[in-house]
Amino acid sequence: MAKEMNFFLGYAALAAGVTAVCLWLVWAVMKPGLAYYISDMALAVDIFFGLLLCGTGLLFLLLLMLGFTSWEQPVRIRQILLQYIGFLYPVMRKLAWTDTRKEMLARSYIQFLNGLVLKQNLRIPAEQVLILAPHCLQWDQCPHKITRCVDNCRQCGHCTIGSLLAVSRSLGAHLAVASGGTQARQLVGTLRPRAIVAIACERDLISGMEDVLPLPVLGLLNERPYGPCFDTQVDVPVLCRLLERLTGEDYERTRNSISQFTHHM
Ligand code: SF4
Repeated sequence: MAKEMNFFLGYAALAAGVTAVCLWLVWAVMKPGLAYYISDMALAVDIFFGLLLCGTGLLFLLLLMLGFTSWEQPVRIRQILLQYIGFLYPVMRKLAWTDTRKEMLARSYIQFLNGLVLKQNLRIPAEQVLILAPHCLQWDQCPHKITRCVDNCRQCGHCTIGSLLAVSRSLGAHLAVASGGTQARQLVGTLRPRAIVAIACERDLISGMEDVLPLPVLGLLNERPYGPCFDTQVDVPVLCRLLERLTGEDYERTRNSISQFTHHM
C-alpha cells in the first residue's frame, strides 16, 4: 500500500512539476508582448501567474498531507484536492508512457482514492451501501436477466454474481449490476446510497469514482482470466473486508459462509 502510494505521489509530483513549468513558459512567452502592447496590465498578469504557481504548489503540499498524514481534511478541501488529482491524472498517464506503467499508475490511483475513504473511519449502515458490479461478472451463457433485477439470479454457482447476491442479502446492502457507465450513474441517482463499493476494471473504476465525488467509493478491481469484459471474477472475501471497513461491522460469518456460492467454472 505504502509502495503504491509513493508510486502515485511520485508521478503526481512529476505532473505538478511539468504543469508548473508549462505555466511559467506561458507567462515568459506572453510577458514581452504584454509589456509592449498593454504595459498597464503587465503587473496584473505577473501577479495572476505568480498566484497560479503558488496555488498549484500549495495544492500539491496539501495533497502530500492528504496522502501521508492522518489530517482530517474539511470536506471542501478534500473535494478541491480530488479535483486537482483528477486534473493531474491525464498528465501523469502521459508521463507513465508504457502500458505496464500506466496500469500500475491506475491501480495506485484506485488504492490512493480507497485510502482516502478508509481514512475517514466511516460507520455507514450496510442498508445504505451499494455494491455496484459490472455485467461482465455474469456467466456468458446465463439466461437470466440480472441487470434489471439482480434477484433474477438463481445462484447456480456458475459465476460470482451468486456469491455477491448472498453477501448483499446477508448484510442487507444493495446489489446492482450495471451494463455500462450510464446505467451505473442512473443506479446511483435512483438508489442514493451513502457509500459504494464498486467492482470494475481500472479504467471504469477511475472514471466512475471521479464521477460520483464526493460520495465515498471503494474500488475493487475485477479479475480477468479470460480477457477483458468476459466472464470476469471478483475476490468476494476482499469485498466483505471492504464492506467491513465501510460499515464498521464484522462480517466473518458471511465471509465463511459464501463459499457455497463460489463459482466452479
Ligand atoms: S450465478 Fe448462475 S444464475 Fe446467477 S448470474 Fe451467475 S450464471 Fe446466472
